[in-house]
Amino acid sequence: GKGLAVLTSGGDSQGMNAAVRAVVRMGIYLGCKVYFIREGYQGMVDGGDNIQDANWASVSSIIHRGGTVIGSARCADFRKREGRLKAAYNLVNRGITNLVVIGGDGSLTGANLFRLEWSSLLDELAQNGKITPEQKQKYGVLHIAGMVGSIDNDFCGTDMTIGTDSALHRIIEAIDAIVSTAYSHQRTFIMEVMGRHCGYLALVAGLCSEADYIFIPESPPKADWPQSYLAVVTALTSEADYVFIPEDPVPNDWQISLCEKLAQERSAGQRLNIIIVAEGAIDRDGKPITAEDVKKVVVEKLQQDTRITVLGHVQRGGNPSAFDRVLGCRMGAEAVLALMEATPDSVPCVVSLDGNQAIRVPLMECVERTKAVAQAMAEKNWELAVKLRGTS
Ligand code: ATP
Repeated sequence: GKGLAVLTSGGDSQGMNAAVRAVVRMGIYLGCKVYFIREGYQGMVDGGDNIQDANWASVSSIIHRGGTVIGSARCADFRKREGRLKAAYNLVNRGITNLVVIGGDGSLTGANLFRLEWSSLLDELAQNGKITPEQKQKYGVLHIAGMVGSIDNDFCGTDMTIGTDSALHRIIEAIDAIVSTAYSHQRTFIMEVMGRHCGYLALVAGLCSEADYIFIPESPPKADWPQSYLAVVTALTSEADYVFIPEDPVPNDWQISLCEKLAQERSAGQRLNIIIVAEGAIDRDGKPITAEDVKKVVVEKLQQDTRITVLGHVQRGGNPSAFDRVLGCRMGAEAVLALMEATPDSVPCVVSLDGNQAIRVPLMECVERTKAVAQAMAEKNWELAVKLRGTS
């Protein structure tokens, strides 16, 4: 059977195990010889015990576990040709020419580079007598397929990345818990949530905790979107009064409108305020707005009893939600199907979610778009960033 390997790379997220399990079992089902590569690209470069046979039973009882059981890492060696040469040797030696990479845009960029370089790496290995001309001939093409595992939902081309839904569950549980204590003491809680330069977690968490006030991007992709969206959010009014998201840098007078809103809620009889701050929140000048900045304003101007909760890695932990388990399963199976159907000329894909369908989209197009979003954000071109990111 064809040699097929799976690895997880970059930051971990809930649901990666479901994806690994699906790759292994679909691979076996289709007659492949399947391998795990432990510790991401580092394991591929180092070889040895890091590359292990996978069988049906070796992925039993992992679907419910958070993180990734095969380990993940950041690997400086793989960024260099020398490291990729070692990795190529380790794969060819085991007859592996199909690779599933579960990671972020960096990991997928690395996979694509590896695929493009593959034949020249094999040439070099053959010249050095590390592999035979027959091996070079037989394993001449490397097929790759990607899946995005990230809680941030910051990858262009998919509606949801693996792990986002579980992270939202963690956040919502934490906000619910905090609301009950905040209520007792009439406190204001400022919740900092993850997401890096993407406000998705903060935005949806604000929606789920009934936000009164949300800043939305200035120029969202559809012209009619902001009005209707604002209407939905306003209709769901309640505990979280303020959400800062990076795509929608708040005006520099955010202090004033924040205080007005909080004071108004209290005078209307609300016993608590919840404010959600995305870790990447910024103002119009691109200056970060931190939970501490917000607290300072609330305490100084309103003298409210104010506490900060930074959820941190709790958001990445715990068991995956049903949604992420199913997402991992479907994407993993689709990735293997894509590899089995690949030809030497086919464009490598990343498996993504479009509505309720697992689909294949061109890997590098999505990576380029994701990088363009980061670039637009860095250039403070929020309008372009939102446009490029699309509906997800
Ligand atoms: P996350 O979104 O969780 O950070 P990521 O996949 O974007 O995930 P990176 O740290 O960017 O995380 O990349 C993970 C690994 O992928 C790197 O440590 C490196 O081994 C490999 N990699 C990233 N970019 C490249 C590249 N341009 N060339 C070769 N390898 C790369």
